[in-house]
Amino acid sequence: MDTIFDGSKAFKHIEKLAVEIGARTAGSPEDQAAADYIKGYFDGLGLDTTVQEFEIETGYVKNTSLEVLKPYGEFISCEGMSMLGQTGPEGIKGELIRIETTDEEYLTREITGKIVVTNGIKRKNLSIISKLKPLGFIFIENYPRMQRKHFWGNYSENMSHGNFPGVRVSFEDGFKLLKSGATHARIVVEAELSKLKTKNIIAELRGTSHPDEIILVGGHYDTVPGVKGASDNAGGTSITMELARVFKEKGSKRTVRFIAWGSEEMGLDGSNFYAKKLKAEDKEAKEKDKKAKTELDRTRLMVNLDVHGALIGTNVAAVLGPSMLTDSLKLLSKETGVVFEVKESVYSSDGTPLSAVGVPSTSFSRRSGIDIMMHSPEDIIDYLSPEALEDQGKFVEKWMTRYVTGAAAFPFKREIPEKLLKQIKEYYEKWGKELP
Ligand SMILES: [Zn+2]
Repeated sequence: MDTIFDGSKAFKHIEKLAVEIGARTAGSPEDQAAADYIKGYFDGLGLDTTVQEFEIETGYVKNTSLEVLKPYGEFISCEGMSMLGQTGPEGIKGELIRIETTDEEYLTREITGKIVVTNGIKRKNLSIISKLKPLGFIFIENYPRMQRKHFWGNYSENMSHGNFPGVRVSFEDGFKLLKSGATHARIVVEAELSKLKTKNIIAELRGTSHPDEIILVGGHYDTVPGVKGASDNAGGTSITMELARVFKEKGSKRTVRFIAWGSEEMGLDGSNFYAKKLKAEDKEAKEKDKKAKTELDRTRLMVNLDVHGALIGTNVAAVLGPSMLTDSLKLLSKETGVVFEVKESVYSSDGTPLSAVGVPSTSFSRRSGIDIMMHSPEDIIDYLSPEALEDQGKFVEKWMTRYVTGAAAFPFKREIPEKLLKQIKEYYEKWGKELP
């Protein structure tokens, strides 16, 4: 079976997105530039391209600092968590208390009125934290070399739990802070909260013989702030774009929608929006007519591409769907000799919201030592290669041609096994977010 996926063509998209445009925080001008570039490319291929706009809540930090007051005075470099809480310009001053995590076991009266030094907030415990009224938080990154603000999250919905000013420090600075025996500190976080817009870019290739069977193929194009996101996820976006070229040329029996998802990093916003919309339309149609066949019913599969291109790495596919889907990937891996670790589990990315509304998904990624630099300024193009993109791209092309776009009958049932549905529910619960 001939493949035409070209790794060097895909690599050019990474050059454009991660080098020329750079960091693409959702809602920023660079995010817009990336969206324009992707839409222009899809349009140029002659695909039917639409833009799905949605609103996101973001926070811009105007002023932030962390000052150790006792036993010595020193400023430690930090990143304000704009959406978690705010202080005035004078900040808040208080005694430090170290707890390993925000699991229930550590949440006692001891933290009341103090600045808690820990590794993050477990959102499911927000209501307990809220009752205990800590003064603020210092979060330490779990790994060396991670950028401080690597996950700042879309916390606004949690603001109702109270105002928790918080700053993030690096693993290295956190280590020093704990070793030094610091007991008191001052935190300043002043931020401007705003609502911005971003979008999903959707390019449709209509199916020749089964246009009513819809397949989604996509990757998110946004990044965390200040990060070029070459691997995460200019890599997956570039494969999506090249696959669009490939299947425009080859054609498809089924309708394929190539989607560049917006605002994944703040909480899978673009794919959640898309999944919610499908679900809402489905509900409305079925209230009128139980037997209505909706777009949600017609959406048969989602192929997600997130984190790609590393020269040194291994290929992974995470499936949320029927075992036939898992088996098809395992078989093709054996047949082609392109080794994939195929597993059935949640991959924290845009496939999950679709599977949460019943669409089976598989998430392809390339796991690598450079994952440690994910969400850091070191996620740069230098560690990636056209050959790695081509390996993965050709595999996905082959698999799609055989089982998805070209199959005489669609082989995968539209069902998600109970144990995987449970994992999806737990994932959303842990995250403190409603299922779409
Ligand atoms: Zn990603």
